Amino acid sequence: MDFEEFRRRGKEMVDYVADYLENIEQRPVYPDVQPGYLRTLVPTEAPEEPEKYEDVLKDVERVIMPGVTHWHSPYFYAYFPTSSSFPAMLADMLCTGIGCIGFSWAASPACTELETVMLDWLGKMLKLPECFIAGTQGCGGGVIQGTASEATLMSLLAARCKAIRRVQSVNPELSEAEIFSKLVAYTSEQAHSSVERAGLIGGVMMKKVPTDNKFSLRGDMLRKMIDEDKAAGLIPFYLCATLGTTSSCSFDNLLELGPICNDELMWMHIDAAYAGSAFICPEFRPLLNGVEFADSFNFNPHKWLLVNFDCSAMWVKRRTDIIGAFKMEPVYLKHDNQESGLVTDYRHWQIPLGRRFRSLKLWFVFRMFGLKGLQDHIRKQVALAKEFESLVRADKRFEICSEVVLGLVCFRLRGSNELNEALLKRITSSREIHLVPCQLAGTFVLRFAVCSRATESHHIQQAWKHITQLTFELLQERVN
Ligand SMILES: *Cc1c(COP(=O)(O)O)cnc(C)c1O
Repeated sequence: MDFEEFRRRGKEMVDYVADYLENIEQRPVYPDVQPGYLRTLVPTEAPEEPEKYEDVLKDVERVIMPGVTHWHSPYFYAYFPTSSSFPAMLADMLCTGIGCIGFSWAASPACTELETVMLDWLGKMLKLPECFIAGTQGCGGGVIQGTASEATLMSLLAARCKAIRRVQSVNPELSEAEIFSKLVAYTSEQAHSSVERAGLIGGVMMKKVPTDNKFSLRGDMLRKMIDEDKAAGLIPFYLCATLGTTSSCSFDNLLELGPICNDELMWMHIDAAYAGSAFICPEFRPLLNGVEFADSFNFNPHKWLLVNFDCSAMWVKRRTDIIGAFKMEPVYLKHDNQESGLVTDYRHWQIPLGRRFRSLKLWFVFRMFGLKGLQDHIRKQVALAKEFESLVRADKRFEICSEVVLGLVCFRLRGSNELNEALLKRITSSREIHLVPCQLAGTFVLRFAVCSRATESHHIQQAWKHITQLTFELLQERVN
């Protein structure tokens, strides 16, 4: 493919994507394929000779599309949203075009500098405390990680390193291995599985603290566990609090947890993967109160802030905590402008070395939507969730299972788990809408998350009509 053909094919691809998204409603949201479907549609070996581009593109509809779950379909209500917008897609194309690897300032200064400034912009949009903003000489600052899981792992590893150094400075006779075996981290029983996984990868105990009846982690429960563990000779060093849990979008009580962590010299990380985007709206910002106690904070603009995957924003209060934990300086990566207020080497802030120019997506999106446009997007989707909630509440056969704060509605049929599982089975196999369940306090619950930007009020009405129709059929059959 030469320059001329690339120009032509590029424009065609933009048309293909625009057609795809414009007509996405016509495609079944959930694919009807069996595991292994794709292998039978492609050759067993890579081609020896180059093929024609037309043939490759043709196969997208034949091989790929039948097996795609259409996350941007207005009938997609599963998981949490994944963001998408035209400015972000165009920026991503530019990122790929430049194709630099920005592991250090010198490796591509614009890649590093735009990232630092965009994380400052975003931090200010969220009204994060000043200590998280890099500025030109701040101690804190932001970084783009690939996912919230990586941000959690990074914070845990940095906290682990800090704790070992701290304990060794008081007890020099203790070996690193001895300290290691006594370290204990905490998170709520409602936390995302990636938090437990960070504990496994980091090789430390991760204890799950029970939540209150609103699925929120409270200070007294954490206090109790810490005291017991200390009495048993363990060393509490880390808490991952969640704002907007995956199951029910509940919020841990930072104002209670923060002071405990600070008193105990424990690192507090906040995982706000989904909910974080909403904090750009003044009416939702109080949900973030208590962030001032945290050592690190993270959320995913790629979930709800119109930035395509991947883009997970993470801030730390003291950049030295995170850099100090993982610094490696082989000669081939050294350069004259070493880390300072103005120069950041992001390779010290993350697990891989290589990194893409992801801040372009933030820059394009912030400028093309403005804070106002982004707030409108959040508010619209919250309003749609509230609309769905009121439909559920008006039907006495159903119940709402958790307070609807943002774009997620947890609901179920009054009755057994088995009944609700049967309802979900019908919803899934009808393939008209797509949603997934969760478990809350031992009950099987349906999660309805407003995801697609194409979702409008009439889709919500239609989804509810569909659910009640399937419910009617289900209950009818059970009577007979
Ligand atoms: C979605 C989600 C995650 C995982 O996000 P990744 O970016 O895919 O790692 C973690 N925590 C919470 C609360 C989430 O909702």
